Order: sequence, then structure tokens, then C-alpha cells
Amino acid sequence: MSSNPDTPPPKPNGKTAMIIGAGPAGLMAAERLAGSGHAVTIYEGMPSAGRKLLMAGKSGLNITHAEDLETFLSRYGTSRARLEPHLRTFGPNEIRDWCAGLGIETFVGSSGRVFPTAMKASPLLRAWLRRLDGLGCKIHYRHYWTGWDDNENAVFKTPNGEVTAKADITVLALGGGSWKRLGSDGKWMEILRNAGIRCNPFKPANCGFDVAWTDHLIDKCAGSPVKAVTLTVTTKSGPQTVRGEFVISRTGIEGSAVYAISAALRDLWLETGDATVTLDLTPDRDLADVIARLAKPRGKNSLGNHLRKTLGLDATKTALVFEVTPRETLNDPAKLATAIKALPLKIITPRPIDEAISTAGGVAWEELDETFQLKKRPGTYCVGEMVDWEAPTGGYLLSGCLMNTGN
Ligand SMILES: Cc1cc2nc3c(=O)[nH]c(=O)nc-3n(C[C@H](O)[C@H](O)[C@H](O)COP(=O)(O)OP(=O)(O)OC[C@H]3O[C@@H](n4cnc5c(N)ncnc54)[C@H](O)[C@@H]3O)c2cc1C
Repeated sequence: MSSNPDTPPPKPNGKTAMIIGAGPAGLMAAERLAGSGHAVTIYEGMPSAGRKLLMAGKSGLNITHAEDLETFLSRYGTSRARLEPHLRTFGPNEIRDWCAGLGIETFVGSSGRVFPTAMKASPLLRAWLRRLDGLGCKIHYRHYWTGWDDNENAVFKTPNGEVTAKADITVLALGGGSWKRLGSDGKWMEILRNAGIRCNPFKPANCGFDVAWTDHLIDKCAGSPVKAVTLTVTTKSGPQTVRGEFVISRTGIEGSAVYAISAALRDLWLETGDATVTLDLTPDRDLADVIARLAKPRGKNSLGNHLRKTLGLDATKTALVFEVTPRETLNDPAKLATAIKALPLKIITPRPIDEAISTAGGVAWEELDETFQLKKRPGTYCVGEMVDWEAPTGGYLLSGCLMNTGN
């Protein structure tokens, strides 16, 4: 449920709840539990709440997506079956209503992505913390959870030494394993594994990849976008193609279209040690059209000019063609057209986990019941990015953290 900030706190039900981690998943668990009458205490390792949420706000805070629900649910891949009932109860429409209830208006961008009108997270976070305060939630900052003691108390490292706490319900909302400086350091995984709970290793998700660019390409193109292309990764289950744009970085490739295909590319690389992404630089023209255009007389034009005039390739796309294509291919219109329609970029490695927008891996699904309760620790729940699901960028990550887990 989500409550109106002006309504008085609900009638206490005599139960206590401890939330560990004050990111979006933890704060939403706090709101729901306080709304049902629990006395809620939140423990957060950092000096303030929602640091990753605030970072997400720097790029506008894409909080959910307005596409039809069937397509939306399909974004959660193999975890769809586990997440679907919760996303159906509290999905994109409910998230927008919830934002409005906090006084945060949202709009649908041209791609269907939903953002707060202010394009930042701080007003939302401020209003949210005010609401939690109104619901009677207490927050203890600089309380870093280090595990449970022999009496099943949660133990926290604080500036004033160790403190312990116990509650009827514990919700762990400790985040994934990237951007450690924002608080989610992933160290909880060892604590849970020591408690006999299976956790799958973190993997970078929505990440960039290293490519062995020449110094020439780096000097010319680092930071430049490559627009209106398709990227294809071919795995055992067939080709997966996304259309969009990405950015050439000093070390390789990054940006939205790369993130969209990153799970398939990463898994291929992890399984085989070898992965290639194939670019179509002119996805709106078929091969025959590209050959015909390239076969037009070039006159005194350089090949770069010829590519620009006949196919509209900009300087960055042209530099990519020169970077990847063998010299003999450049002089043969048919071979060059084939290269432009299927330019292979060999991946060296995914970028390090800490740089990834999110992480796959985490608490294994089989450890959790349908309310996200740990089967081996009744009364303890795990929510948000720390559970082993992943989704592309597009508001799906925050939606998966805000959904109604029913605990
Ligand atoms: C640069 C960037 C941009 C992003 N943009 C978007 C976007 O536009 N849309 C979108 O949907 N998603 C986006 N994301 C992803 C999204 O922010 C995360 O998926 C989301 O914040 C995860 O929420 P969470 O509550 O599960 O974990 P977190 O937000 O990571 O919160 C976990 C909290 O637990 C605390 N914690 C961890 N360990 C302990 C401990 N031992 N003791 C006490 N406290 C602890 C942490 O300090 C943290 O406050 C972005 C991420 C990044 C890095």
C-alpha cells in the first residue's frame, strides 16, 4: 500500500519491523510495513538514505516505463514468473500514482520511459522521507549491518561501537554489488552464505565492454555517440538485436543500446571467453541498396566523403568502418557494403562490476518464498537488487525495487 502524507499514522498492530538498507527497496518496505501498523526502524550503513537513487536522478530518474504491461513484464527475462504477481499488484501505473501522492508529477518521454517532471530524485526522496517520518518510522544512519549474533540479534557497526537489535520482521534491502561508494558494497553476500543461504555470484549488468581500439580511434572518437544503429549478439538461442545508440569510450563501448544487449553479450563472453557484437551502421537500407550506392562513381572524393554522400555515414561511423575493416575490403563496394551492414566488434571483457549500472546475481530464487521470505530464516525477507534478477535500463530496475513484495 502507499499512504497519503496527510493521513494520520495507522493503528499500531503491536509488531516491530527492522529494515536494513535505506535504498528504494528498503524505503518502500518501510512504507508498507508502517502503513500496516508495524513499528518500523530502518538501519542504514551510510550517513544518509538513497544515495544510489540520487545518482540515478542525475540522468533524470527513469522510474518506470509506460509500454504495455505484457512487454514490460517480458523485460524481466527468466525472473518474470517470480516477479510478475508483484509487478501486477504495484506496477508502472501504481508507481506513477504513488509519485503523484508524494507531490511528484511524472511524464512519459518519447521512448515510453517515465521520469519525474523535475528530472531528478532529490524532491522525491525528501517527500518520501517526510512521509516515512509521518508514519512513525525511525532511521538510524551509520549503522552498518555485520550479521547476526548467537541470539539471532542483528549486529551493527556504528561510530559509537557495536549495537544489536531484534524485531518481529527483518527486511534486508542491501542492494547489488556496483557503485560501492554509494553504500551497496555487496558484503552481505558472505554473511548470507555463511548462514547457509545460496547466493549467486554478482555479474555486471547494464555495463560497458572493452574493445581494443587503436590510439587513432580513441583520439578521434572517444566520447562520440554512434546513432541509429543496430547491435546484434548471436548466442546458442539465436541472434538478439537491439536498435538505438551507444557511445565510443576510451576503453570500448557503453551507453543505452550496449546496456540493452549487455546481458546476452556478458553471458556469451562468460561462457566462451569470446564474444562479438555486430553493428549494422545503416539499418534502414538493405544490402543491395548499400552496394548500389557505394558503386556510384566516387570521382575525386575521398572514401570518407563518398560514405557520407552516398550513405549519410558521419565521421564517427566512418572511423569505425576504417578501424575494423581490412584495407582490401574498403576498395570493393560489395565487400564494403557487407562490412557496413555487419561490422564485427570483438569484445575483450565486460567493464568491472563496480562501474555497472546494476548487478545480476544475489540471493537465489529457491531460497525465497513467494513473499520474498528466506525459507531458512522465517521472518527475514530480501528485497530489491540484492535478489538474483536483472532487467535492462528503462525504469525496470526501480520498478522491480518498488513493486509490492507482500512482506
Ligand atoms: C548511475 C546509475 C544510474 C541509474 N539509473 C537508473 C534509472 O534511471 N532507472 C532505474 O530503474 N534504475 C537506475 N539505476 C539502478 C537503481 O538505482 C538500483 O537498481 C536501485 O537503487 C536498487 O535499489 P535497492 O534499494 O535494491 O538498493 P540500493 O539503492 O543500492 O540501496 C541499498 C542500501 O543498503 C545500504 N547497505 C548496503 N549494505 C549495508 C549494510 N551492510 N548495512 C547497512 N546498510 C547497508 C546501502 O548503503 C544502500 O543505501 C541506476 C543505477 C546507477 C548506479
